[in-house]
Amino acid sequence: MDPLALIDVYVAENEQQAHIIRAWLADAGVDCTVSGGALQGALGDIPVGIPTAPRLVAKADSADRAKELIRLWEATSTRAGASPQDEWQCMDCGELNAASFELCWNCYTAGG
Ligand SMILES: [Zn+2]
Repeated sequence: MDPLALIDVYVAENEQQAHIIRAWLADAGVDCTVSGGALQGALGDIPVGIPTAPRLVAKADSADRAKELIRLWEATSTRAGASPQDEWQCMDCGELNAASFELCWNCYTAGG
């Protein structure tokens, strides 16, 4: 298999989640790209829930590692409860961020 081929490693519920996981994987040393989420930005205010769920893609040689880390991420975020109170709103762009996030997923402004 081509080690540089891109493989889907996760289908996110929404673009925010995709970016959170992408940043989390980057912290862990695994490069992923969010694919499919750009459409939402391009078209503006499309309703949530349309079938263009953003996907995370990784190079083939790191896809297994990425999937393993995503399973860990899911287990961790489930255990944490991920309640809305734990989120913080970015003062710069207004997006909601997970409590574990130090930087806004959208604009990288520090907050929380
Ligand atoms: Zn922001």
